[in-house]
Amino acid sequence: MTTKKTATAGRTATAGAETDSLPTGTASPGTTKTRSRGRATVRPEDLPVRPGEDPWTAEELDEVRTELEQEVERLSGQIETSNAELVGLLRDGSDGAGRDAADVGSTNFERDHEMSLANNARVMLEQSQLALKHIEQGTYGVCDNCGQPIGKGRLQVFPRATLCVTCKQREERR
Ligand SMILES: [Zn+2]
Repeated sequence: MTTKKTATAGRTATAGAETDSLPTGTASPGTTKTRSRGRATVRPEDLPVRPGEDPWTAEELDEVRTELEQEVERLSGQIETSNAELVGLLRDGSDGAGRDAADVGSTNFERDHEMSLANNARVMLEQSQLALKHIEQGTYGVCDNCGQPIGKGRLQVFPRATLCVTCKQREERR
């Protein structure tokens, strides 16, 4: 029970933001805005990107956020439909009297299929909701496994991605 150690990390708020400080040459002169600390709004350009990638712009982040929000809506609807369908299938399935085996079999198949669809949708829904939360908190785009940036390019294609390409490939190879 030595949870005391973590308290020391609280002072520096720049954890995880260690860019490899590549000499970009575009230091935009004169933009020394004093950062208001109390503001909860996350600046898109503060989100992690891979070396060589441009920082997120507000528009790009908006696009990803919109896509995620649409996903959440679509998946919620899908889960609801699935659940309603399952209720029907389970009712049909339990009412075995007077039905032949093939009928019962196909109902079972439908039910299993519907269940796996619903489960997939639920996982994707959770990932989308998590991604939206990370966007809000300014922690979007950090690999769940290695803590490195997932990369803007990858996230624009897979906004729900929680792993960087390297970790994803490693996971798939298992
Ligand atoms: Zn990784």
